[in-house]
Amino acid sequence: MIIVTRAGITSEELDHIRERVEALGLRTHISRGEHRTVIGCIGDEQLLLGVPLLAIPGVEEVLPVLKPYKLAAKEFSALPSRVRVGEAVFGDTGFVVIAGPCSVEGEPMTLETALAVRERGATVFRAGAYKPRTSPYSYRGMGEAGLEVLSRVRAQSGLPVVTEILDPRQVEQVAEHADMLQIGTRNMQNFALLTEVGRVHRPVLLKRGMAATVTDLLLAAEYIMSQGNMQVVLCERGIRTFEVATRNTFDVAAIPVLKRETHLPVIADPSHAAGRREYVPALAFAAAAAGADGIIVEVHPRPEEALSDGEQSLTPDEFGDMMGRLDGFVRAAGRRMEAVAPVEAA
Ligand code: PEP
Ligand code: MN
Repeated sequence: MIIVTRAGITSEELDHIRERVEALGLRTHISRGEHRTVIGCIGDEQLLLGVPLLAIPGVEEVLPVLKPYKLAAKEFSALPSRVRVGEAVFGDTGFVVIAGPCSVEGEPMTLETALAVRERGATVFRAGAYKPRTSPYSYRGMGEAGLEVLSRVRAQSGLPVVTEILDPRQVEQVAEHADMLQIGTRNMQNFALLTEVGRVHRPVLLKRGMAATVTDLLLAAEYIMSQGNMQVVLCERGIRTFEVATRNTFDVAAIPVLKRETHLPVIADPSHAAGRREYVPALAFAAAAAGADGIIVEVHPRPEEALSDGEQSLTPDEFGDMMGRLDGFVRAAGRRMEAVAPVEAA
């Protein structure tokens, strides 16, 4: 249930409405817009039945949220949500570019890639220490040692880090080293993991499951948010269809659909959607044109030596070239590229 308050409501009136709702056994979430403040009521809505909420001073309207997701629903927030990771802000007018290798393969290549993508305009660094691989015989990451590499690279490059988490028992450990926790496609419906990342104060990058509908994705976000963590960024990364010309089928339409359905920021992953590096720029441009808040792209200094996802990794120069061309699409969509201060001399 959403309570829309009157324009110019006083803070005493607002507190009084919250107290009334909380006394009935629900939690409240305040969201302030330019003209209105909206109070989201979280919990069993049956408890509100028969209560004359409209009679409470300051209440203008009481609206049920008819969607299966509530906290993630557009109506729940008076304004689009912003999620800050280091200097980068998702969900504002900036377009955030996250870039880096698929996996941490060692310290020198990780640092080399971070500095290379930073120099070319990325504001968040990506690299997996724990890799979910379809085959158990593929490279599965450096694990804890990889997290330590990420900590040092983060300090040396100045870029905040996003890295994947595979197991609810890793949450605290990964949160110690990373600025943002990634839940990958294969774990989008790992409900124990979603619940656990919902309990920490760290932004979460939630990737769409390869066979998940938009509603499934939003309900996965709801799992995280219902535990109290509202800092969720959604990511379209391609879905599995009958088409095999690309690794996945990039569902570009999911971007405007999500933008309509939720207040959460939405980014896209052209690398895992394409599977081949020559297609990555076109999909990145399409994401920007469709209204995404950013992209996450795989970049490797020597893709042919990559231990995972080399075929879809851009070289730093290809990434730089893509960034130059991306700017026009970002501007046409009414945004600007996020920028970082130039790299200081080491
Ligand atoms: C990744 O980001 O490297 C990854 C494994 O992505 P996804 O979960 O989208 O397959
Ligand atoms: Mn990858």
